[in-house]
Amino acid sequence: ESLSVAELAKKLHREPSEIIKKLFMLGVMATINQELDKDAIELICADYGVEVEEEVRIDKTDLDTYFEQEEIAEGDLEVRPPAVTIMGHVDHGKTTLLDSIRHTKVTAGEAGGITQHIGAYQVNIDGKKITFLDTPGHAAFTTMRARGASITDLAIIVVAADDGVMPQTVEAINHAKAAEVPIIVAVNKMDKPTANPDRVMQELTEHGLVPEDWGGDTIFVPISALKGEGIDTLLEMILLVAEVQELKANPNRPAIGTVIEAQLDKGRGSVATLLVQDGTLRVGDPIVVGHAYGRVRAMVNDLGRRVKEAGPATPVEITGINEVPQAGDRFVVFEDEKTARQVGESRSMTAIQASRSEKQRVTLDNLFEQMSQGDVKELNLIVKADVQGTVEAMAASLMKIDVEGVNVKIIHTGAGAITESDVTLASASNAIIIGFNVRPDVNAKRAADEEGVDIRLHRIIYKVIEEIEAAMKGMLDPEF
Ligand code: GDP
Repeated sequence: ESLSVAELAKKLHREPSEIIKKLFMLGVMATINQELDKDAIELICADYGVEVEEEVRIDKTDLDTYFEQEEIAEGDLEVRPPAVTIMGHVDHGKTTLLDSIRHTKVTAGEAGGITQHIGAYQVNIDGKKITFLDTPGHAAFTTMRARGASITDLAIIVVAADDGVMPQTVEAINHAKAAEVPIIVAVNKMDKPTANPDRVMQELTEHGLVPEDWGGDTIFVPISALKGEGIDTLLEMILLVAEVQELKANPNRPAIGTVIEAQLDKGRGSVATLLVQDGTLRVGDPIVVGHAYGRVRAMVNDLGRRVKEAGPATPVEITGINEVPQAGDRFVVFEDEKTARQVGESRSMTAIQASRSEKQRVTLDNLFEQMSQGDVKELNLIVKADVQGTVEAMAASLMKIDVEGVNVKIIHTGAGAITESDVTLASASNAIIIGFNVRPDVNAKRAADEEGVDIRLHRIIYKVIEEIEAAMKGMLDPEF
């Protein structure tokens, strides 16, 4: 960003005295070691007819920057498998579906392999791969997103045909929507005599998921996870949606990706399952994982086999890092071990400092400030109330709020107490929770405190609207 007179002179192949003279003519008094600002540098360069090329300085210790680099030439990109998460209401068959897919596809194809739970697995359908994250439920999904990692390309929402849409189904849909991930609906338990898929479709229509037969664009696949029926069709549909997404990666670059799970193993030390998102990970690679670092000592795949390398969208369990990272942490491979160590150590230091000053969340009190700084253009709200009728009335009124420069977006609603899951969603989506005639339960309260999520409780509808409007206009009275 800045250069001294001597440095600039060297770059321009001139004598420093000449530069000092020029600066003097331009009305700037400078000595040889003086740091010049950008404007002064540009002035001098313009005088010499040289264009200033700004050096893009990347912060080596910010792992996110490695994910933002779009340096790869088209030619290097290859199609990569999709990473899929299965979500839905409890007991609707998520685990059964994950098992069913794995058993029909993994063990059949790879004789002798013993499936090993490493947090994700890959199946092969006529040469095309799909990666499944095998922690069912949206808790894992949202925790990762809260940590800034979006590794899911596609969400399967499982709905039991004999039970229909349930609160967690709606939550799952809202999580997927908030993450802007395409959804495929698996209507499960079709083998049951009480199965009523039409009802499921009808109910989901109310949540914006309209089947193709009814003029919408959501894919519905009737399945029986227990009997293994409809699984092939489901897999075909996943591949179809993935094809449209044109998911690509460059296997010829150092690997980057995300931690799916990690723990301390008595014999092996820190063990982490990584999903390679771009590049190829190899044994021996110097690596930074979250705040941990080291060299990849050994890699094991989802069949428990040792492997030497793992390409894009492949999950592998690795050892060789000095600490246990967290699910959702990024990893980046470096050219040499020294850099990896420096970056890792520096990240470890900043993490300790950062844990003391958490990143600022949106609250009604700081909303106006964040809006003015351009940090917030959309106010995400979660609305909970005692009865469904009130929820709808509240949501309708909130959406009518019209303040210039910011949009009100309701990302989730529900009847009943504010739960920990609401708080996690709020945290991941930088949302504020509005409770009407309801309170947060104990876990929700603790989570909200920890995450700094703003929960506003009210008993009179117009007060809610008034408060939000005031906050958006920067006219909120301080609360004591
Ligand atoms: P999860 O909580 O969503 O992971 O649900 P599980 O996979 O644990 O399934 C809950 C229960 O539903 C278990 O008893 C399963 O055996 C049963 N189940 C799952 N899929 C089916 C299905 O397709 N048909 C029938 N009849 N039962 C199923």
